[in-house]
Amino acid sequence: MSPEPVNLHRRFVTATREALANPELSRLLNEATVRLNERRAASVAAVPDWQALRERAHQIKKDALANLDALLARFEHEATAHGARVHHAPAAADACRIISDIARASGATSAVKGKSMVSEEVHLNAALAEAGVRAIESDLGEFIVQIAGETPSHIIAPALHKSRGDVSRLFAEKLGIPLTDDLETLTRAAREHLRAEFAAAGLGLSGVNLAVAETGTIVLLENEGNIRLSTSMPRVHVALMGIEKVIPRTADLPVFLTLLPRNATGQPMATYVSMLTGPRRPGELDGPDELHIVVLDNGRSALRADPVAREALMCIRCGACLNACPVYRTIGGHAYGTVYAGPIGSVISPYLQPAASAPDLPFASSLCGACAEVCPVKIDLPGLLVHLRGLAMRGDLAGERVAARGLQRIAMWMWAFAMRTPARYRLASRLLRLGLRPFVRDGWIRRLPGPAGGWTGARDFPAPAKKTFRQSWTAGLKR
Ligand code: SF4
Repeated sequence: MSPEPVNLHRRFVTATREALANPELSRLLNEATVRLNERRAASVAAVPDWQALRERAHQIKKDALANLDALLARFEHEATAHGARVHHAPAAADACRIISDIARASGATSAVKGKSMVSEEVHLNAALAEAGVRAIESDLGEFIVQIAGETPSHIIAPALHKSRGDVSRLFAEKLGIPLTDDLETLTRAAREHLRAEFAAAGLGLSGVNLAVAETGTIVLLENEGNIRLSTSMPRVHVALMGIEKVIPRTADLPVFLTLLPRNATGQPMATYVSMLTGPRRPGELDGPDELHIVVLDNGRSALRADPVAREALMCIRCGACLNACPVYRTIGGHAYGTVYAGPIGSVISPYLQPAASAPDLPFASSLCGACAEVCPVKIDLPGLLVHLRGLAMRGDLAGERVAARGLQRIAMWMWAFAMRTPARYRLASRLLRLGLRPFVRDGWIRRLPGPAGGWTGARDFPAPAKKTFRQSWTAGLKR
């Protein structure tokens, strides 16, 4: 019997309600995002030509997307010439199959992983487990969520939803250390556990931050050194990258090496920047014998084919739009139900993870514009969300169709009717003010009946002003 299809809308609503009812989650989200936002703001303010850098990054990414096929071909040519093997994965299942085959051929029984959201996207760990290979997350945050049996809740801070106490209890249970809230002790425990895994692993797995077409180089940014170990200690290194990671030239790199760490964590630069061009050469002491680069599409070409939504492929996964978003800051990453959360997740998930994406995702935004203001590559996220809302309402977005419910449809029709001429608008305003009058108490509307009660369930409205803006304006002009 096939499993019952998941109602993604209901799952999203339930997860959101649960998140809203969790004050500890709310506290952790607030603390972490405020801290990240403050660090980012201070770091960005120290760069005098920040806006020019953003513009430059936008242009580089835009041009790269326009010439993507040629850049990928050049990248493959150069990477191959330097000894790497390039594989193409049209879908998530292809990436898992290719990497499982490489793992089997290498004889590895365990693999150490650097943080890679794209490997979460394709559910690589589960596929490797089926192939008899144990995948070990080596990024501290990823390690925490892995041993907790959870998934990351933030692009750059996977364990953002966990408190120090949570981690202490987890490590006591899983690693057998005494309870402690000393961060150094907790980190040392994870490090000691992972060192043995690095030494034993036959396979190293990583994502890719940027891929340089002219040299066939993959570039990786990190702070913990675990990616450097994952990519150099095991005999075989597999790097999984989305097609959108390619940029034309090495000369473009400084722009992103400046923007990404400052925008992500507020650091002037990442602690470690690894630029890998092919595997270890004869005579070199470090590095893998084999470097495999798996180039993943998995819905990205469909996203690129949309002339508006394609801009989302410029994303460099800094996570700043999540921290800026009032919706993410209220419900956290898990409520979205997809690997990519926040404003960017709501745009790309329907393409990259259609089977997990609730049709409501593009609607999970106040459209306040904070995400666009912090985006280092100037992606017009509110514009894309509105665009996707249109697609969802028309049933043209991957996943379930958003059904305009009866009353919603009638309300939108009435709104459109009223907005068509000034006379109708004036009449509608007057009728609305009259209709709301019975609900006003002490200058506020605290409860509305029927479906409108959804609006007042979590907020109060000020009562409509005695005079409309137009009446006040006209009176002012006559004075
Ligand atoms: S959309 Fe922009 S702000 Fe959000 S993660 Fe991507 S690059 Fe960062």
